[in-house]
Amino acid sequence: MRFKKPFFLTIALIALAQGCADNELTSVETLFVNGAIYTANQQQQLVSSLGLNKDKLTYLGDAEGARNIIDEHTEIIDLEGKMIIPGLHDVHIHLPGIVESNNCDLAGKPYSLADLVPRLKQCIARLNLPKGSWLAVEQWGYAQGNEPSANFPTLRSALDAASLEHPIILLGDDGHHGAVNSFAMNLATDKNGVKVGLNTETLANEFSDMKSLIGVDRHGEPSGVLNEDARKIVNLPNLWGYPEVDFEVYQKIAVRLAASGITSAMDAALRIHEIDNFAKWAKKQPLTYRLTAAFYPEFEDYRPTLDAPIEISALLADLKSTQERHKEINNFKIDTAKVFVDGVIEGDPYAYPPMLPNAAVLDHYRQPIFTITDDNTLEVMDYVDTNSRACVTVQEKGIANLTSIFTQNFYAENGFLASQCIQSKGVLEKEYSFIKGYTKALFEAGVNVHSHAIGDRAVRLALDTFDAAKRASPNSEANVSIAHAQLIHPDDISRIAQLEVFMAFTYSWIEPFDEYQMMVSPFIDKVFNENDLFNPDGYVYQNTYPTASVKKAGGILVSGSDAPVETRDPRPLLNIEKAVTRKNDVTGRVYNPDERLSVADVLDAYTINGAKMLNQAEITGSLELGKKADFVILNQNLLTLEAEGRSDEISDTQILSTWFDGKKIYSKPQP
Ligand SMILES: [Zn+2]
Repeated sequence: MRFKKPFFLTIALIALAQGCADNELTSVETLFVNGAIYTANQQQQLVSSLGLNKDKLTYLGDAEGARNIIDEHTEIIDLEGKMIIPGLHDVHIHLPGIVESNNCDLAGKPYSLADLVPRLKQCIARLNLPKGSWLAVEQWGYAQGNEPSANFPTLRSALDAASLEHPIILLGDDGHHGAVNSFAMNLATDKNGVKVGLNTETLANEFSDMKSLIGVDRHGEPSGVLNEDARKIVNLPNLWGYPEVDFEVYQKIAVRLAASGITSAMDAALRIHEIDNFAKWAKKQPLTYRLTAAFYPEFEDYRPTLDAPIEISALLADLKSTQERHKEINNFKIDTAKVFVDGVIEGDPYAYPPMLPNAAVLDHYRQPIFTITDDNTLEVMDYVDTNSRACVTVQEKGIANLTSIFTQNFYAENGFLASQCIQSKGVLEKEYSFIKGYTKALFEAGVNVHSHAIGDRAVRLALDTFDAAKRASPNSEANVSIAHAQLIHPDDISRIAQLEVFMAFTYSWIEPFDEYQMMVSPFIDKVFNENDLFNPDGYVYQNTYPTASVKKAGGILVSGSDAPVETRDPRPLLNIEKAVTRKNDVTGRVYNPDERLSVADVLDAYTINGAKMLNQAEITGSLELGKKADFVILNQNLLTLEAEGRSDEISDTQILSTWFDGKKIYSKPQP
């Protein structure tokens, strides 16, 4: 007999075993004692001892209570005060991108345009690129650096200096921004696939509908900047810059997740062949994390003709057959689809005129006139009054219809460009009828909807689509979630709670960097310098990532790193820290302290709430009897750090080991 116990307990165990016929749940193979164990279970939030048997948790409590259920076979591990938390759920990540790359990789570091040139030349030499073949530069930090100079006034000029013999594209580390050289511009094709090149003339004609996504210089020439769908016109073979998921990449993804304490992940946007690849390798080597794939095929392929609507029924048919193909694979499901509502909320202050952000916002973007001070910081000199009589004239004529004489005279008279009279509330990624129709169809089919929404108008529209979907299919078991939600109008906070939307924030992005914020705030608030960014009356300041307000209203917080956006590292501990502090440790500035969260709130977001969103809270997400033994051991107690006012040390925490299905899948290397 395996148990050596006092008589009365044996009786109790027999009774229990008869009741549930599950003997495995009453024995403990490994017992951790003396820990600070955060369970994410409301009923029993903190315990000091945890026991497991095979893949399940079989004991939670204190060491005293455990004494009765262990025997001489039980391995006892003294945690010496270290912390255990449930396995982390990263519900918005792009897995193929988290693997380090051997290509030209800028790792999100800031380069001035002058410094960028030798860096790219180096890449071309190291990769031994034949003439005419693409240099696709990964992890370009579009939001930092890129300062122009007299020699390199535009990105295009810098990329041309790097090479005139290779097409070059910088792939922004956010998956939305891009920039190309002249060689690449010459490869641009129109809607029919005819090579017409990108220049002032084709910009006014073939590419006129993409004007807001294509940067121009002082002379109206394309400056190299190509954002969002405009990046597609130059026909780069692999726009995302992510590698194919071969077996090596598959294995490296698992290693990185385990080292990050992540035992469940949702890849936020996988194409069908990528899903097939994951499935193929998962048959060869079982997953060591619970993988949810969000279905995201190339929507444009689903238009029967160029101007026809996207065929939603065909999308759903492909989703269903993909689900069907892979339904037998352990720890792998495809029950979610990604919907893009809008783009991104950073403008480009260095473009002339400054490029407006394209995220969908409720009010027109402002038109700042930037200047660079002697110490190389960006300031706003003035704002264009887009309601002035001069601007109204331009708006009435239509920007596209202005003659060059008119624009020259306009500049002479007003001191700013006629094109700065544009009023824009950003753009939607696809026509709204598609966004809404697809959301409703997915929800009706029982597929979870994961919507990318950044601007306050996009968030509102996402909520509208969820509302419509829920009204149309009240019995659907699908859930809805929003990724990013950078700017939320206060009126929409209560709707987030009412519609039970899982809010996937990337908490490290709350940390305020002046340089970054100058790409956002001046287009929305009247901001002249870096001090103004922290004006407590600012709309952006008040409503950026309003995490505590969402939580207070009853909304459900979850967590997504969005890696490799900004960095390939999913950095969960930095995410936790910034959700709690909202502070830049170098400047000491806090971005809207009212929206700070507690450590427990963020841990819940990262664990039990994530499991609820991924429909697996029955088996994981919290440390409870009978659930899977998915957990992480940390070298220090995050709750103590918080209690002692040392929350800004959370990101120094080390992950000592990660356990999945009761097995240790990662152990921190000994120094
Ligand atoms: Zn993403």
